[in-house]
Amino acid sequence: MNERRRGATEKPVADPARITELIASIAAINDTPADQGITRIGFTPSEKRAHKQFSDWLCDIGLTVRSDEVGNTIAEKVGLQSLPAIGTGSHLDSVPGGGRFDGIAGVVAAVHVAELLVRHEIPHRHPLRFVAFVCEEGARFGQACVGSKAAGGHWSYEALQGIRDSNGISIADAIQRSGGCPSDVVRAIWQKSDWAAFLELHVEQGGQLEESGVDIGLVDLISGSTRFELVLEGVASHTGSTPMHLRADALTAAAQVILLAEGIANDGRHRGTRVTVGKVDVHPGSITTIPGRVSLWVDVRDIDSGRQRLIADEIVRQARAVCDARRVALTPRLLSDASPVVLPAWLRDVTTTAADQRGRSYRVMYSGASHDSQMVAAVAPAAMIFVPSRGGLSHVPEEWTSANEIARGVEVLLDSIMALDKLGESGDCSV
Ligand SMILES: [Zn+2]
Repeated sequence: MNERRRGATEKPVADPARITELIASIAAINDTPADQGITRIGFTPSEKRAHKQFSDWLCDIGLTVRSDEVGNTIAEKVGLQSLPAIGTGSHLDSVPGGGRFDGIAGVVAAVHVAELLVRHEIPHRHPLRFVAFVCEEGARFGQACVGSKAAGGHWSYEALQGIRDSNGISIADAIQRSGGCPSDVVRAIWQKSDWAAFLELHVEQGGQLEESGVDIGLVDLISGSTRFELVLEGVASHTGSTPMHLRADALTAAAQVILLAEGIANDGRHRGTRVTVGKVDVHPGSITTIPGRVSLWVDVRDIDSGRQRLIADEIVRQARAVCDARRVALTPRLLSDASPVVLPAWLRDVTTTAADQRGRSYRVMYSGASHDSQMVAAVAPAAMIFVPSRGGLSHVPEEWTSANEIARGVEVLLDSIMALDKLGESGDCSV
């Protein structure tokens, strides 16, 4: 152990004060009063400003920075040899009223890794890329990981045109308005031959690391998600003059649907499935009018892709029975459907060794949340490094991870990148 600790002191040390400064700079770009958390929605001027800040930091230390067709920002530090790149990064958008760390911790970690490499003049064979993805949160379009889906080759222009936010703006319009070129979305696809690996540091967004006093989580599996909108159409009418037995109240039907969805997830056969109705729109939204139309946004998460789809179908089937009984029409609309992704064990072994050699405790765990790495995994071997979330809270203003905890993650990330860079040096590996 002493041997190992002596070894560790020779490695670059992450600077918690610098990490605090970087996090605070991004947190200052906020569309919400600070006491109500952080609001930096995908494809808004605020998200763009955060990308500009990221770009400035990396330009300032001599990296070449570019934006791709959907607005992802990619900075490159040239390697000594012509080899596929090793990348790291995450996202800079937030949910409405969210926290300072979700996504940001990973982007800040990428910036700090680049700073440490430059400051310590560490040579590397592979080109290193530092990435900020656009619009990872599903808050605006009901569609997570918009930017990384482009990198992973999961989009067509038609699909980008077909998905709209609550103001009727399509993803394609939103990309266009923020300066991108959605019709060229296929040009944003990462070529497999161009990438050796991608690593993402992220806050855990759960309480397992804190609870067990463990420094680092290493992700083996990222849950899938099926998201759909249920539109319930009843009959809007006067609340005073319409007798109870003649109503077709879309909201009471919706209430029953929300509870049945929860009941399906709680069924003992579906342990591990998570179902949430996180958004409800009620029309016309008047205290004196029976709700005529309700939209429910349903999110089904699972680490078992078969069960994930089965449960989504079951919710729709049972919702239909409820609506039929209440004379309410039901229209389901699929918003997104992503399968769970198993991350490669060989790459996790690299991160495990890095954590071990820094003397950090770690555990292997799955991620219940979606992440950019899930999309990138289609084109590059991907790994995720989790750091603890205080109280397990995320997507709320109270979200918190200390700079020291992030610094530990940064060191594991840096060492993993450098270990990957050395793999195959003697020609015995394809990386
Ligand atoms: Zn995130």
